[in-house]
Amino acid sequence: MSDDARCGADELIRRLRRVVGSAPKVALHEPRLAGREWDYVKACLDSGWVSSVGEFVNRFETALSGILDGHAVVACVNGTAALRIALLLAGVRRDDEVLVPALTFVATANAVSHLGAIPHFLDSDGATLSLDPAKLESRLSAIAVPGENGPINRQTGRRLAALVPMHCFGHPADMDALNEIAARWRLPVVEDATESLGSRYKGRACGALAPLAAVSFNGNKIVTTGGGGAVVASDPAVAARAKHLTTTAKLPHRWAFLHDEIGYNDRMPNINAALGVAQLEQLPQFVRAKRALHGRYAEALNGLSGARLFTEQPWAESNYWLNALLLDEPDTARRDRLLEATNDAGLMTRPAWTLMHRLPMYGDHPRDDLSTAEALEARLVNLPSSATLEPALG
Ligand SMILES: *Cc1c(COP(=O)(O)O)cnc(C)c1O
Repeated sequence: MSDDARCGADELIRRLRRVVGSAPKVALHEPRLAGREWDYVKACLDSGWVSSVGEFVNRFETALSGILDGHAVVACVNGTAALRIALLLAGVRRDDEVLVPALTFVATANAVSHLGAIPHFLDSDGATLSLDPAKLESRLSAIAVPGENGPINRQTGRRLAALVPMHCFGHPADMDALNEIAARWRLPVVEDATESLGSRYKGRACGALAPLAAVSFNGNKIVTTGGGGAVVASDPAVAARAKHLTTTAKLPHRWAFLHDEIGYNDRMPNINAALGVAQLEQLPQFVRAKRALHGRYAEALNGLSGARLFTEQPWAESNYWLNALLLDEPDTARRDRLLEATNDAGLMTRPAWTLMHRLPMYGDHPRDDLSTAEALEARLVNLPSSATLEPALG
């Protein structure tokens, strides 16, 4: 069989192997735990403070705030919870609609649904993989009218309560354009920055490009706490609200259990924060390693026929959380043959997430034309992207 008939799988595998080496199994993304993780987790156990109060939570929040251009940070149990709290603080209520990308991990839409609100799916931009500002503008012009408390979707009668750009695979969305449109329509913006810790947009940190954001520290993210997340807020008073809501809305008192609203138990435990403090110390190294890995992929895949590596915009500095190979043409059959051949060869590649409107619970939800996201879904293969693949960067 010719190389062409195999859709170039052999050639792709040969080139990928030049980058990732000869290990029999190469993960899509694995954590790197080579810093002070053991020391800090042991110190946490020795202190006896393993739960949601403790010194490591404070240290973690302070370190994270430094990374996020000084925005205030409240550490949470996971990124989904952080996103739910950020949306709540942005004013999202039951029966509101929230504008989210169709090309995202399901948690973006689920966090909206957990509040009883309705995700409304928007298209992506092929140049960023994230929300397309031009299509957002035309969608709003087509369906929205200004209302007393924000724009109303004329087709459903529901309020459009927030816009949630997601920095896909670590690549910043075009936030200046999105923020400008949102401001004009009086739409609060909540960044889903769960994949983009360490990424920068025109020199500014992703996760600090809107008044509210959520980040994640799940095991597969660039920095992990086992499981974890954080609400990020430009206004310290809003962060104080996040802290109150995530700690069962308990009022400070020496002994009494007084709660002034229905709160959540969403705070990050101290033992997870201990892991996180050690991980955050290594973030600059992780970003350097992942950008170097991207550079080696770019070199190895240069001139590959029928596909190219996705690369950041000139104004972006991506953390390259996951590298993406893009087929020149949408072709799910070819994509699936490449997935099968690479996985058979021990290289853990993955397709993009199934688009939100194809999932059974979101099939009947409001959505714009999603032709770019649909094309990307049929073109995209994520490549192994662990920082551990770049041993030279310690
Ligand atoms: C990881 C992720 C989340 C949720 O984070 P968890 O910590 O896993 O709950 C939300 N949105 C996107 C786009 C993600 O990749």
